[in-house]
Amino acid sequence: MGSGIAIDIRNCSKIFGTGTSAFTALDDVSVTIRENEFFTLLGPSGCGKTTLLRMIAGFGHPTSGAIELYGQDLSDLPPYKRPVNTVFQNYSLFPHMTVAENIGFGLEMLGKPKPEIAATVAEMLDLVRMTPMADRRTGQISGGQQQRVALARALAPKPKVLLLDEPLSALDFKLRKDMQIELKRLQAETGITFIFVTHDQEEALTMSDRIAVMNKGRILQIGGPRDIYDHPAERFVADFIGDTNFIEAEVLTVAGDSAEVRLPSGQTVSARHSDGAPGAGRATIAIRPEHAVLADDQGLMQGRIENIVYFGTDTHVHVTLDHGGQFVVRRQNSPDRTEAIAVGDAVGLTFPPGVGQVLKD
Ligand code: ADP
Ligand code: MG
Repeated sequence: MGSGIAIDIRNCSKIFGTGTSAFTALDDVSVTIRENEFFTLLGPSGCGKTTLLRMIAGFGHPTSGAIELYGQDLSDLPPYKRPVNTVFQNYSLFPHMTVAENIGFGLEMLGKPKPEIAATVAEMLDLVRMTPMADRRTGQISGGQQQRVALARALAPKPKVLLLDEPLSALDFKLRKDMQIELKRLQAETGITFIFVTHDQEEALTMSDRIAVMNKGRILQIGGPRDIYDHPAERFVADFIGDTNFIEAEVLTVAGDSAEVRLPSGQTVSARHSDGAPGAGRATIAIRPEHAVLADDQGLMQGRIENIVYFGTDTHVHVTLDHGGQFVVRRQNSPDRTEAIAVGDAVGLTFPPGVGQVLKD
């Protein structure tokens, strides 16, 4: 199994164009992707996700920096010699060929013997549950089925790493949900390292072992879904993933990964602190709406209910704080929740020590 590291990207930058038209698409990106990992690059359109995938695949070179695959420097290895395959958003299947022919196409190009191709195609058809459709032309199957064929075709040469560039974005909501589970299963069954690209935070949270959040050519934070969601290191990450309350507060002391902060109400509470966040003075604290509760007593902050929005599974209570700003509390609905709240009520708000996060910026 070796080092357990599939891909090591070190200080990679990519600049398109020169002089005044130069554009930095990737800015000093470093990330290590482990073997058998479901790794996701998450970020808004234009942040450099495809550019990074293309460099791993070998379609384009970094302006500076290095990429190693299983300890081997990739700079002189052409795309077809890399143990890497890509699934694109638009599938690019051959509509006049059958499902089986599409899946076997890459293997034919590699000059594999016919019996081996037939065996692999049968195995892949089974893997993506498309055996009954083997002889259909891909122009005559649904979008979800085309996606399965595209996956099977990319997996057929048994790459060590599969790159998936927003492969689910063309599917409707229900199908996308099904394919998320399907992709997770395929990754677990094949043991192949998946590098998945998406701008959809929910897709990233539900499928990934780890996520790298990107913006403007930079990786801002790398971590497990829970880690990224519960402890966003900077404002962009907190804002891009889920809903967040931002409170302007003051850092009093820091010890390890914990800070004592003073809220605008004058109350103090401990919050998570990570490297790079302010060690003293003004700082923004991020608190997820479901991590706060309405308090019977005074709580950590006080305010007045501005709006109550029912969402079925939960209810969002919008509170205008006495010391300025808005705060949203998300409460899970249940049949036995009886306490009555109303717009205009004066309320206290509280959240446990350690759930707030001191942001870097
Ligand atoms: P994403 O996949 O995250 O949406 P891309 O990696 O496709 O973003 O693009 C990142 C940025 O680099 C974009 O602003 C895009 O316009 C720019 N870009 C990508 N490819 C080229 C190119 N060949 N020449 C010039 N600019 C490019
Ligand atoms: Mg892209």
